[in-house]
Amino acid sequence: MKYNQVNDSIIKELIKIVGEKFVITEKEKLEQYSHDEVAEKEYSHAPDVVVRPRTTEEISKIVKLANRELIPITPRGAGSGLSGGAVPVYGGIVMLMDRMNSILEIDEANMMVVVEPGVVTNDINEAVSGKGLFYAGYPMSVETCFIGGNVAENAGGGKAIKYGVTERYVMGLEVVTPTGEIINMGGKRVKDVTGYNLKQLMVGSEGTLGIITKIILKLLPLPKAKVDLLVLFPDVKSAITAVPKIMTKGGVIPTAIEFMDQLSFRTSCEYLNEHLPYHSAGAMLLIEVDGNDEEIVQREYDAVGELCFESGAIEVYVADNYTTQERVWNVRRNIAEAFKVVSPHQSLEDVVVPIASIPDLIPRLEEISRKYDFKIPCYGHAGDGNLHATIVKPPEESMDIWKTKLPECLKDLYLAVKELGGTISGEHGIGSKRKGFMNIVASDAELDFMRRIKLAVDPNNILNPGKIFDV
Ligand SMILES: Cc1cc2nc3c(=O)[nH]c(=O)nc-3n(C[C@H](O)[C@H](O)[C@H](O)COP(=O)(O)OP(=O)(O)OC[C@H]3O[C@@H](n4cnc5c(N)ncnc54)[C@H](O)[C@@H]3O)c2cc1C
Repeated sequence: MKYNQVNDSIIKELIKIVGEKFVITEKEKLEQYSHDEVAEKEYSHAPDVVVRPRTTEEISKIVKLANRELIPITPRGAGSGLSGGAVPVYGGIVMLMDRMNSILEIDEANMMVVVEPGVVTNDINEAVSGKGLFYAGYPMSVETCFIGGNVAENAGGGKAIKYGVTERYVMGLEVVTPTGEIINMGGKRVKDVTGYNLKQLMVGSEGTLGIITKIILKLLPLPKAKVDLLVLFPDVKSAITAVPKIMTKGGVIPTAIEFMDQLSFRTSCEYLNEHLPYHSAGAMLLIEVDGNDEEIVQREYDAVGELCFESGAIEVYVADNYTTQERVWNVRRNIAEAFKVVSPHQSLEDVVVPIASIPDLIPRLEEISRKYDFKIPCYGHAGDGNLHATIVKPPEESMDIWKTKLPECLKDLYLAVKELGGTISGEHGIGSKRKGFMNIVASDAELDFMRRIKLAVDPNNILNPGKIFDV
């Protein structure tokens, strides 16, 4: 697909639509929109222009203009993505959603909230918790990412075992189509089988099928009790084998079971200057149990603690107040950031396997680590089978060798995951980073089906081209 350059007359039209203040063309300012949180620089590409619309109508006009002039548009939330999704790989327009940041309605009677896509995810809970309600989405980037980005990526996070991922909470969407029409999908109805389930097609479409401009989210009653356990194990194997046991034998569905190997935990503690007791442990589980009855929650976490000891745990620390809970979760939330400081050359992976296969994944990772001589620290949402193995470039290795070996190493990892019944991304998405590996887990017919959907709604391939698959 050949695109046109953004020229002065297009800039003038964009200014007419959103106002001069909200069109960015200065080269030094465009740089920050050339990447997301993917560490490797090879996935970066600067836009020609950034626009910051305030209304759905403005977005519709910009999309129509882009179709007329054949200019690609890449929607961008907070840019916290980990697959290059918000990077304009063909240049053109980056559409920043940060000004569409209002919480439009808290509908207590229907237990729903209506938000614009640029609302920071954490702000939703700040707004609804006083009313005894909560939004269950909890990506580890919750303090920075936008809800629109969460919907576009179908974000998972730390509470997916019990509460599921973003898709479970999206009741309705307003969307600007890739050709500029404004349409609605779903609504406040609990049941709705009126035609295709377009809303679920849009969730996780990575900004390739439409620009999300309004979101209706389901809320839940805010749990009254919550306890976190920080469980220390002597080694990775004992920690990871405890995970499926907790899920199947504990008789409890925890809110979270996060796994951290020693290197991940230590790196984050050092980065935060946090002094948690990790020195005797080879691996840790952070387990959360919540509910409405304190006694039941206590019985449940006692049962989980017992199971952990039976699986070889050395110590179980109980965090039952907000301050200590925040301390341990802060360590977990900052692992990715801490690794980036240690080495900018790394590949943060997002593989997912069925929960019963988690123990089998670890020896495969160790095998791959030995074969390529790369350290592969590992952490993640073990309770739902989603592990963030992070392949780190050894400092002594040349960039040339790293660049040759990394794709081979990734291919081995993805093949191993496929053999275990898993896939290459559980929550971070494909974007441009994993596009080249899609054929490992998707057949030609499956890819072709996706391509045909894309081209049916976006005949000019205007919206976020170069992501998920090539058209
Ligand atoms: C430290 C850290 C921890 C993280 N932890 C998690 C985690 O636990 N779970 C998880 O799932 N992810 C996690 N992520 C990844 C990231 O935060 C999520 O993918 C998040 O959903 C991205 O939101 P964003 O607003 O930053 O989107 P961006 O990165 O700006 O964009 C992501 C994608 O969404 C599209 N998009 C954005 N807004 C819209 C819109 N309004 N309409 C259409 N398309 C749009 C973009 O085009 C792009 O393809 C983490 C990232 C970091 C840096």
